[in-house]
Amino acid sequence: MTVRLNKILMKRWKHFFSRGMILVMAVFMSSCARLPIESIGCPPREMVVPTLTRVPILRKDVYHVAAPGETVWRIAKMYDVDIKDIKRANRLRNTKEIEMGQRLIVPSAASLKPVVTLYPSKKWKYIIIHHSATDVGNALAFHGYHHRRGFENGLGYHFVVSNGTKGKEDGQIEVSPRWTKQQNGAHCKAANMNNKAIGVCLVGNFSDGRVSQDQMESLVYLVDRLRRYYKVPLKNIMGHGRVHGAQTECPGKKFPWTKFITGLKNARRYYGDRLIKEEHGDARKY
Ligand SMILES: [Zn+2]
Repeated sequence: MTVRLNKILMKRWKHFFSRGMILVMAVFMSSCARLPIESIGCPPREMVVPTLTRVPILRKDVYHVAAPGETVWRIAKMYDVDIKDIKRANRLRNTKEIEMGQRLIVPSAASLKPVVTLYPSKKWKYIIIHHSATDVGNALAFHGYHHRRGFENGLGYHFVVSNGTKGKEDGQIEVSPRWTKQQNGAHCKAANMNNKAIGVCLVGNFSDGRVSQDQMESLVYLVDRLRRYYKVPLKNIMGHGRVHGAQTECPGKKFPWTKFITGLKNARRYYGDRLIKEEHGDARKY
């Protein structure tokens, strides 16, 4: 389970807990507080927590708009549900039927978790960070925009990290078809980076705005996995504007590089090696 997922769970748990505690405290105050605890056998406060977490509050039906290249398999993994349940709820005859932009119901969905698949490859030597230079956006919107700009395969990045706009959660990692098909990027012509660099785009404009905490945590999580798996040295992780020959200030003057790099250096402590072992690529599943 990722730090981000833990955070989401904590947020929801805290919300529930804050309401639940009022009830718990009311019971506690009425039955226990006036007598020594030992004499009436009230459970210690810690015992309250597992009781609350057993309540199935985290799952709910959600709508999901399919991003470019997203499959039912991927959506099922993202929400920790069975493929069959998505098929049944949406009356899909097969899992190849969905199209980008299609609105699907995901029954009894858990909190969203990132599904970042890793494919064996010697191609990826750099990781380039971009911003969208827009206040809002998601993979689907950028896909259309890049198509209109004449990019043959649409969305030019390999990953998009959301800022919580256009129906996506803050910090949600969207995986581009260019990644699942292991295609060249269309995000940085300079220094031939499109052939050898993984392109990651954060939604937002960091010439003015700030990277949210959730976005930064997801970026660190994503880049940490990628750099360890593909053995990309820290010096090869850079902003678009730092690529030799690039004429841009992308990802923006206010992008917090020190925070990002410090996060990467500390990531192993947070995530350990287990993430590298998860969900290794199997292109047939996508
Ligand atoms: Zn850029």
